[in-house]
Amino acid sequence: MKNLRSEIIKYSKMLNSKKLSALRSGNISSRYKDGFLITPSGKKYSALKNNDIVFVSLNGYFDKKKGIPSSEWKFHQDIYRSKKEAKAIVHAHSTCATAVSTHKRGIPPFHYMVAMAGGHDIKCAKYATFGTRELSKNILKALKGRKACLISNHGQIAFEENLSKAFELAEEVENISLQYITSLKLGKPKILSIKEMKKVLSKAKNYKRG
Ligand code: 13P
Ligand code: ZN
Repeated sequence: MKNLRSEIIKYSKMLNSKKLSALRSGNISSRYKDGFLITPSGKKYSALKNNDIVFVSLNGYFDKKKGIPSSEWKFHQDIYRSKKEAKAIVHAHSTCATAVSTHKRGIPPFHYMVAMAGGHDIKCAKYATFGTRELSKNILKALKGRKACLISNHGQIAFEENLSKAFELAEEVENISLQYITSLKLGKPKILSIKEMKKVLSKAKNYKRG
């Protein structure tokens, strides 16, 4: 548990150092026992201590005396409740993913790496106020059959089987968003067919990462 708290802090600091989320924006959690450990609300990542990481049960219970969890604990809760394979979640206000999200649009298969999010495109969740159950519902819809999505006028979210992979997926989504924005500057990119994306998706399952 001590190690998991330190790991959450390590990746939270990387949100800043890898320029995935500035200052306090974004949040990170990891499944733990019958709930999850999550970054606290509104604290700068650079100042985080193990005791600042808050436990929230899958029923949404937390002990206020032990700290206030991220204002987005509801969408973390709903993802852990609805997706057994989710073991860690990274939410970031990364610049390019956020820029695309402000157009209330997802990312089509302009590049085969879109498949890294689990499907033939990356969806954009409908806007709702941060921290609300409504936002959480919209995110779950956009995550249907996916491990990552954009969030309208807000940012992005990625989940995986561990923190390292969830963080890498969030980095991937940011990189794809940058490439998409760059491609749009030249006009309308040529989009890969669903048939081709199905081939990519089946190949990606056996792709070994070092
Ligand atoms: P918290 O500091 O409460 O996690 O808020 C950051 C954020 O990204 C809200 O969407
Ligand atoms: Zn946010």
